[in-house]
Order: sequence, then structure tokens, then C-alpha cells
Amino acid sequence: MAAEAGDEWSLLLWTSLAVLVPVIITLWCSVQRSKRKTHMKEFFRKSKHGWHYTDLFNKPTYCCVCSQHILQGAFCDCCGVCADDECLRPADRTLPCKDIMAQSRVTGA
Ligand SMILES: [Zn+2]
Ligand SMILES: [Zn+2]
Repeated sequence: MAAEAGDEWSLLLWTSLAVLVPVIITLWCSVQRSKRKTHMKEFFRKSKHGWHYTDLFNKPTYCCVCSQHILQGAFCDCCGVCADDECLRPADRTLPCKDIMAQSRVTGA
């Protein structure tokens, strides 16, 4: 009898774990996601580009840094530069935006 009761308890434990774990993972992911979003916003605000972040590009898009096909990332609506999460910072550092290029061309001439 005691063993049976123990089985029931462990079954209950596993069931609640099976329910709780996905919930915790989902919550944790959404927290990480919102954290990343605020981080991104700060980064976009400081950037010279007019970045727009998208979870899914509506047309075939290639990263301007690693040349890979990307589904998720950011694009600049000003100069058309696209980059995935990892390449966003190098892209922002190395690629000047159109406006700035135009300005430097004017002052250079
Ligand atoms: Zn890339
Ligand atoms: Zn740009």
C-alpha cells in the first residue's frame, strides 16, 4: 500500500513538473525577450541608422555582414542595410548610413 501511495505521489509530482516546466520556460523566454527588446531599443536609439527590428522579413533578405539568408533581424529604412542579431553591431559600426555618406561627400567636395 505504501509503495502504491508513493507511486501516486511521484506521478503527481511528474505531472505537475510536466505542466510547470513549459510554463516556466515560456515565462523565462518572454522575460529574456523583453529584456533584449529594451536593449535593442537603446541600441537603435544611439545608432546612426534608422533600424527597424522584425521577427520575420516579408521578403528574401540577406545579411549585409555575413551574406547569409536571414529570417529575423533588423533593417535600416534609410539605406536598406539588413543584418541579423549577431551582425547588427558590426554592421552598425562598419557600415555608414546613406545620410552620413551624402553629408561627407558634400563636405569633401
Ligand atoms: Zn549576419
Ligand atoms: Zn542606414
